[in-house]
Amino acid sequence: MRIGIITSGGDSPGMNATIRAVTRCALDRGIEVVGIHEGWQGVVDGGDRFEPFNWRSVGGILQLGGTIIGTARSDAFRKLEGRRQAARNLVNAGIDGLVVVGGDGSLTGALLLYQEWPEHLKALAEAGAIPAEKAENPVPFRIAGLPGSIDNDQFGTDMSIGADTALNTIVEAVDRLKSTADSHQRTFVVEVMGRRCGYLALMGAVATGADWVLIPEEEMDARWHFRMVEALKRGRAAGRRHDVIIFAEGARHSDGLSIKAETITEILKNRLGVEARVTVLGHVQRGGSPTPFDRSLSSRLGEAAVEHIAGPDPTPVMVGLIHNQPHATPLTEVVAKSQAVNTEIEQGNFEHALELRGRSFLDSLELFKTLARSEPKQELACCGRIALLTGGPDAPGMNAILRTALRIARNEGQDVIGVRYGFGGLARGDIWDIGWMEVQNWINLGGSELGALRHELTDDEIPLIAQQIRQWDIRGFIAVGGLTTYKQVEKLVAAREKYDELRIPMICVPATIDDNLPGTEICIGADTALNNIVDAVDKIKYTAGAAHRAFIVEVMGRRCGYLALASGIASGAEMELLPEDNATLETLLRDTETLREGFRNGKKLGIIIMAENAFPCYDTQLVRRVMDAEANGAFEVRECILGHLQRGGVPTAFDRIQGSRLGARAAQQIMADIAAGRADANVIGVLERGVVVTSFAEAMAQMDWVNERPKEQAFLQWRGLADTLARPGPARGEFRPDRSLKTCQV
Ligand code: ADP
Repeated sequence: MRIGIITSGGDSPGMNATIRAVTRCALDRGIEVVGIHEGWQGVVDGGDRFEPFNWRSVGGILQLGGTIIGTARSDAFRKLEGRRQAARNLVNAGIDGLVVVGGDGSLTGALLLYQEWPEHLKALAEAGAIPAEKAENPVPFRIAGLPGSIDNDQFGTDMSIGADTALNTIVEAVDRLKSTADSHQRTFVVEVMGRRCGYLALMGAVATGADWVLIPEEEMDARWHFRMVEALKRGRAAGRRHDVIIFAEGARHSDGLSIKAETITEILKNRLGVEARVTVLGHVQRGGSPTPFDRSLSSRLGEAAVEHIAGPDPTPVMVGLIHNQPHATPLTEVVAKSQAVNTEIEQGNFEHALELRGRSFLDSLELFKTLARSEPKQELACCGRIALLTGGPDAPGMNAILRTALRIARNEGQDVIGVRYGFGGLARGDIWDIGWMEVQNWINLGGSELGALRHELTDDEIPLIAQQIRQWDIRGFIAVGGLTTYKQVEKLVAAREKYDELRIPMICVPATIDDNLPGTEICIGADTALNNIVDAVDKIKYTAGAAHRAFIVEVMGRRCGYLALASGIASGAEMELLPEDNATLETLLRDTETLREGFRNGKKLGIIIMAENAFPCYDTQLVRRVMDAEANGAFEVRECILGHLQRGGVPTAFDRIQGSRLGARAAQQIMADIAAGRADANVIGVLERGVVVTSFAEAMAQMDWVNERPKEQAFLQWRGLADTLARPGPARGEFRPDRSLKTCQV
């Protein structure tokens, strides 16, 4: 079998990672790969636009933005003759299927080519342009689309390739604007991309704590600007020092005319007397190195696309990510439903357009509107207090959880207090009566503004906590943190028999860079840590010089290999040493031999990501010395222990957004528990089906307590992919059994 790969339409960061994964996964299965330059135009042109790829053709490209095979808009391909010419080139190059990475338009083109295929073959055979037998019993042309677009506007995937990078670029830019806006008490208007889709604008607004957002999916009736001006006025009156308005390039008035930055600045000038500054982020949103999320998303979807093309089902599909799993949706459905939203917006059916974007988009819009208020909707009611605390150690994104939980609860009239320095602070009564405006700028701060401290509660402290609960009339608490936090909650639950005060609802929100908690697949903070690690590894790679050198990069994670495996995939490491592997001296010698083989075959640089507890008894220095000695001069070994820098820095867009979602859900759950008189203990986490509440007892039962990690760890399924992508070359003669994706009718 021989397949082609094209990148088409607007480029997006992560396309190169897709090209690499598709090429290597296909070669690994014995499928030949042709890289076709310049998108659909290259397919129409043929000739030297078709480049046979080998394993090395896609080396060193994982971290590059853009696409090494180029992309283009092709008018020729929009016409029947152009597509016929493309079919001719594909048949004559012996290509049986295409992986098409692109947006809506590119995939619409792919579907047309598939549908017209038998007709093209017949016409081409009749004209003598292809051998007659090709048209006799035509085999369907195989198509696997991949969602390559920063806009995140495609049906059939929760995230498209490049959206996370674009979102992080927006977040970084707005963070910078906010610091200058704050100094001068300025108003900034920021235009972001997204064509007809408000995803980047809305999520950018949630992640930066913006004050107003304008998106194409929401109807701008005749009074929208009055509401905006009123909200900004109230914000200033409440003590806000700056305003940030984010608007999507596709936002429009109810009559369909685009809303321009000048429209907004003019309104602000006339109605508020404010000189607003405009920043159009433009193409910087498309550029730059892809985030680790985009790199691993591309790699996982690339592998799944090859599996589909090599599998028995000829249905053309788009492989997207749904509930954190690769998922194939028929292209007909993807194209129809993606276009449906655009049509609804065009025709002014905003309510339906919003509905088509899905539940999570709607929830995010609601969430944003509450978070952006300058004061709570309701007066304080007399219903005791909810306490918020962060158990140690701190993790980036904790502040997003706290800020959101506080505003969601306070908005409903529920009083909220903060506890400083975790459970120790609770026992001491170190309490902070936090106000609505005090959390205004918490969203982009690393660590925890409440102070997170690892603290094991002693028997003497439990009655002190009971006393504080009584004194402050605490009706429930939300504890944000890692395993130590969970364990303290367990102690308090166990002490309920003795202390009636402890019969209140308690909620754990998982926040630790180690990603080792039950009741969730994602812990807040892990994405930021992953970004820190991959950023460091990208830099380390440039220090190798001309020497044959291997770097052992030690990463955190306690006994959980998530950070090691995920950063290995995202940085293109040669190998990952995980605590789950039960590595021994023998396996280390084997790994050294594998590396030696790689260096003998031309490798110049090797990255080994080693989890801090990969070996029960050997530390990184010892592993380095063993490898160095056993390398026998084939390569030298350096070590790099990343340490606490992994935990630092501002949280990524993902940690802020997921943190906000979990914080909101925690507040809603605890208010419902209080109202119903329940004293449940729960964990709020992100599982396949979204934000989920799991009973605390059930979550604790999911733990492997010997290793202090969940018994089931979803990320371990990426192991095979990491190994395939890191191989020195195709495993000749080795064919894997088909694991074709099921196409699903959603
Ligand atoms: P994107 O894929 O990012 O949505 P475009 O809409 O510009 O970008 O589409 C990229 C290319 O896909 C177009 O230049 C064209 O060659 C092809 N294409 C788009 N729409 C169609 C269509 N309706 N029929 C055939 N080809 C199309």
